[in-house]
Amino acid sequence: MPLRFLPKQKLALATAIYWFLLLYIIAALFFWYIKLQQQNQQMANYKLMELVADDPSYLRKVDQINLEAGRKTMQFRGEGLTFLVFILIGAVFVFRAVRRQFRVAQQQQNFMMAITHELKTPIAVAKLNLETLKKHRLDEQKQQKLIQMTLEETNRLNTLTNNILISSQLEGGGYKLVREEIDLSLTGEKLMEEYRQRFPGRHFEWQIEPDIDISGDPLLLQIMISNLVDNALKYSPKESPVRFRLYRSQGAIIIEVKDNGAGIPDDEKQKVFQRFYRIGNELVRKTKGTGLGLYLCKKIVTDHRGTIRVTDNQPAGSIFTIQFPLQK
Ligand code: ADP
Repeated sequence: MPLRFLPKQKLALATAIYWFLLLYIIAALFFWYIKLQQQNQQMANYKLMELVADDPSYLRKVDQINLEAGRKTMQFRGEGLTFLVFILIGAVFVFRAVRRQFRVAQQQQNFMMAITHELKTPIAVAKLNLETLKKHRLDEQKQQKLIQMTLEETNRLNTLTNNILISSQLEGGGYKLVREEIDLSLTGEKLMEEYRQRFPGRHFEWQIEPDIDISGDPLLLQIMISNLVDNALKYSPKESPVRFRLYRSQGAIIIEVKDNGAGIPDDEKQKVFQRFYRIGNELVRKTKGTGLGLYLCKKIVTDHRGTIRVTDNQPAGSIFTIQFPLQK
């Protein structure tokens, strides 16, 4: 049977080979230096032995031979050090490139695992619910509950496919950004109303300043807000509220999404915007996701000349703040 390595073992093996080769090259360099230095010394000794002691310029010649040997030593050291510096720079470069490559491969693998699961679950749940509705005569309340669950699953599927398709299109330059005058206040109101209907068990609060216009892509801006609200719902307990705010401040349009969940540790605050990045590892993670939501948010925000950041909410949770330049 062919030998199979797990990704972690592969990395460990590659790292071990890398360190072995690096140490071998450095050791070889030192070995060459010692050998050359010995040769240099031998050459100087031969030259000294060839000198005739009663030669009037004997001392001057000895000095010259020693000087030359010293110069050679300096030359070997200089060359050796230059080599060493180049080798070390190259080694750091290779090490970082391999590590980055490995991390991306690992994240892509996690993404594939997550996405298979994410696609299959809503389809299976929706199918089962519809079959139940077809087969059994259920009372009105139960029917409504099943329909509500099916709607939630299809909505999840919708968000997921949107995120995957749009991010791959944006990445490959296949998506043409639409520029339209949009009433962002109206978009926000509609979205939040929809959320209230879709998640009757959750508490939403929103504060939206009217008539905030922006020139942008309506679908992308909706996806951006939905991803933040979806995350706020996903990463906070059921009984805690999700707050949305849209307002103007000092020449900027500000969007805020706040939750009272576990929050995001400081050292992860930048990383969560990377493609496929999810906090924790696939085995211990309880929530579903692909690591595309925030990456896509950031891409959409920057494509609309805005900025996005995450800070801590009080007493707990996160605040995602998007800022766009105000348009007249
Ligand atoms: P996904 O939710 O599909 O994992 P995202 O790109 O939307 O991917 O988010 C990346 C990671 O950031 C998530 O896996 C989660 O760990 C963290 N995160 C995002 N939003 C929040 C939030 N509101 N509260 C706590 N953690 C969050």
